[in-house]
Amino acid sequence: MTTTTTPSLPIYLDYAATAPVDARVAEVMQRYLTVDQLFANPASRSHMLGWQAEQVVEQARRQVADTIGADPREIVWTSGATEANNLALIGYMRANRERGMHLVTSTIEHKAVVDTALALESEGFEITWLTPGHDGTVAPEQLRAAMRDDTALVSLMAVNNELGSINDIAALAAIAHEFGAVFHTDAAQAVGRIPLDVVAQEIDLMSLSGHKSYGPKGVGALYVKRHPDIRLEALIHGGGHERGMRSGTLPTHQIAGMGEAFALMHKEHAEDQAHIASLQQRFLAGLADLDGVVANTPLDRAVPNILNLAFEGIDGESLLMALRDVAVSTGSACNSASVDPSYVLLGVGVPRVLALSSLRFSFGRFTTQDDIDHALTLIRHAVSGLRTLPR
Ligand SMILES: *Cc1c(COP(=O)(O)O)cnc(C)c1O
Repeated sequence: MTTTTTPSLPIYLDYAATAPVDARVAEVMQRYLTVDQLFANPASRSHMLGWQAEQVVEQARRQVADTIGADPREIVWTSGATEANNLALIGYMRANRERGMHLVTSTIEHKAVVDTALALESEGFEITWLTPGHDGTVAPEQLRAAMRDDTALVSLMAVNNELGSINDIAALAAIAHEFGAVFHTDAAQAVGRIPLDVVAQEIDLMSLSGHKSYGPKGVGALYVKRHPDIRLEALIHGGGHERGMRSGTLPTHQIAGMGEAFALMHKEHAEDQAHIASLQQRFLAGLADLDGVVANTPLDRAVPNILNLAFEGIDGESLLMALRDVAVSTGSACNSASVDPSYVLLGVGVPRVLALSSLRFSFGRFTTQDDIDHALTLIRHAVSGLRTLPR
């Protein structure tokens, strides 16, 4: 295969897929790898290097806990939010069969929840799939109507990764509790974007990811409430790490990186959000005079860093192709025969053709005004080019 070289890097507007590691985080991570550094196994009890590595892990645990108002002992390290979602759903449902076999979730959850719920269904658990409104959120009354005596768990995401829509997790958690169920939320996209406080919002289980918040990929955490104790069946067996909930040698560098990234997110969220909101305004203003641009994102109840837009009359894949120098995402799934539109957009009632004409733009800490202006020029050029093609 020959590779074509692009003159410069594409403008990265895909922060919701992953964010670069903040240089300050990378600097911290580098302290725990090589022979002259603190590379020891944090579970080694027999020497000082092990204890020191353990202290690094415990400091990161505190940093992550502080970001969500938790106790450090309630943080279980995982390989990412995908594993955290698996552990929350499978671990809770399997360990609490006597409580009930019913799980409530929604059709627009991340695949790591959707596919996990489907796996539970094939194990004999019963799933109720809530359809969110057009604004991408689940209304509390909707959840109330779905609750049953045997509902053991409710899993609803805090911020949707394709739309940016924000669920009222405190209200949803309150309803779950009214019916004696446990409430889990996937907060991978929520950290530093919306206020998170597991005590005030009465969250029992919360999935977190390092790399959506300028930390490394391959690390995440599950918050597991301690009082009253939430019982989970482990998915990964071994040395009994993480209070038996998740075995495996802890990756000190990944964990220290996630801790630092979350501490920065916590400290700088106001500046980050102001910066990103101004970029979003600039981006929207730059498209305002283009005809047929429809926001799928509910702008009045969404995070400012995710903007899902439909370009009427234009095929999203063609637009993506024309926008080679802008890294964005469609949310659609390609298979050999056809392109399936995003199940999230379909799930909130976006018509199929419009879903196929949609792109997700997502901004971050390192996005600049120049990035936005340059992207706007390329988008306007691509859109007018595709609209003048004979169809
Ligand atoms: C990215 C993402 C995940 C998966 O997180 P990983 O850490 O990559 O496993 C889960 N849920 C949501 C909402 C996400 O955006």
